[in-house]
Amino acid sequence: MRIATFSTQSYDRQFLDQFNTGHEIKYFELPLNEQTASLTKGFDAVCIFVNDTANKEVINILSQNGIKLIVLRCAGFNNVDLPAAKEENITVTRVPAYSPEAVAEHALALILTLNRKTHKAYNRVREGNFSLEKLMGFNLHHRKVAVIGTGGIGRAFCKILLGFGCKVAAYDVSVDESLIESGVVYGTLEETLAGADIVSLHCPLLESTHHLINTQTLKLFKQGAMLINTSRGGLVNTADVIEALKSGQLGALGLDVYEQEGDLFFRDFSEDIIQDDQIARLISFPNVLITSHQGFFTKEAMEQIAVTSFGNIDAFHKGQQLLNQVE
Ligand code: NAD
Repeated sequence: MRIATFSTQSYDRQFLDQFNTGHEIKYFELPLNEQTASLTKGFDAVCIFVNDTANKEVINILSQNGIKLIVLRCAGFNNVDLPAAKEENITVTRVPAYSPEAVAEHALALILTLNRKTHKAYNRVREGNFSLEKLMGFNLHHRKVAVIGTGGIGRAFCKILLGFGCKVAAYDVSVDESLIESGVVYGTLEETLAGADIVSLHCPLLESTHHLINTQTLKLFKQGAMLINTSRGGLVNTADVIEALKSGQLGALGLDVYEQEGDLFFRDFSEDIIQDDQIARLISFPNVLITSHQGFFTKEAMEQIAVTSFGNIDAFHKGQQLLNQVE
């Protein structure tokens, strides 16, 4: 098949080339959106990632250009208008689970860095400053951690936390019995957030979870708690979180995702003036740590993404049953 592959960096091309099962691939560094959708003329499929846009307008252009398949190189599919794709008879596939441990371990990296301030210690020591002033953290052992969403990633994260001796509280619309047996305590959102030292988000972005973290829910947090979001930026109302950081209601914030990340992440703006005032304000806080959507970025996950994506393309091409179709 001829596949137009958007939002590709050198590392994407490396893994996709390595695991290509014989398809003709054209790489675009540009994201798929209303402006770039016309580039798909002459292709059979598009392959896209987290910050590409496949809304109704884009899907109409894809359909006119003869695109039959949208291959998501990620798990989340909030960026695809599924009813529009169905209407245009375009099939959508995704990579439902690629190394959930990759994201779970990154969430833990954010927690440990924010708590023990290793990023600050690294810079201090390089400048000959061996002072410990303001570097004090807290033991994770016996602390309450609230896990919102216990699917693949949330489950892996709970297991890591149990290994640290944390009290793990969880909220999900469906309960995982095996986690209960391991010591995870499920409750309502209010019960789960109450008294938690750390809150970590692992649920998908849906209409029902959009801005799940807002002024009202932040009031349910323990004063000075840490919030970690490695899921999707839209789960958090950024303006409300900035206010909570300013008032001290939120004690630390670790973000791997950001609601407006599509205009920023995966690119180098180090010589430019950042126009997004909210991210500029977030970066200015000493207790905020932001990474640019790198939770998935391990060798194992990249291999799995490439293998599963080509498996999806092959199955579609051969008319076989699609195991990873998004309905
Ligand atoms: P999953 O589908 O396995 O699990 C999601 C869980 O959230 C399920 O248990 C589901 O029941 C639960 N859920 C659904 N609605 C909920 C609600 N309203 N409240 C609470 N829980 C709810 O997904 P996953 O593989 O664990 O991934 C979770 C999210 O992580 C994805 O949706 C994606 O947005 C994000 N993600 C981020 C990265 C990254 O690089 N940072 C990589 C992969 C996935």
